[in-house]
Amino acid sequence: MKISDVPLFTAAAIQERVQELATKIDRDYQDKSLTLIVVLNGALFFAADLARTLKTATLLDCVRAKSYTGTVAASEVALSETNVQFVAGRHVLVVEDIVDTGRTAETLLKHIAARQPASMALCTLMDKPANRRTTMKPEYTGFTIDNQFVVGYGLDYNGRYRHLPQVYVLE
Ligand code: 5GP
Ligand code: MG
Repeated sequence: MKISDVPLFTAAAIQERVQELATKIDRDYQDKSLTLIVVLNGALFFAADLARTLKTATLLDCVRAKSYTGTVAASEVALSETNVQFVAGRHVLVVEDIVDTGRTAETLLKHIAARQPASMALCTLMDKPANRRTTMKPEYTGFTIDNQFVVGYGLDYNGRYRHLPQVYVLE
């Protein structure tokens, strides 16, 4: 396994898209009590850039989701006590690195829905709609990509490549 010679998305392209998403989110959530729930580890860098680009004041908390061992999907997520306090009566935006089958997002949104948020939406850096097994449809998508395995800018392959500033395809 190696990564593509040329990035799928350069650091500059990612930053430009983050800026566009932030502008949209700022417009949609102005004067609303926004909470970002960041899905670790993959969304770490995306969420850090997005949160710092937003003008809207937010609360931010993280959840841990581990849904891939190698490139095989399975799914499990849970909310901490802090998340619960940040959710009730607030407008919650879940920040994901990538939506694939949609199972992780679906599980998480169900947990959140049970904690009475004012509203709930999904923001993902990348979307792979071709592999969807649920009805998940992100309200905010950075890039829609083909059914390929990507790494970098927070996304890993068995722990590797997460630190890279650009997104690459695993070959
Ligand atoms: P889902 O539950 O939608 O099938 O999968 C979502 C999670 O699987 C993502 O949050 C991400 O962590 C992981 N995932 C899905 N596709 C990819 C990919 O192409 N590359 C990497 N590194 N992780 C992926
Ligand atoms: Mg993820």
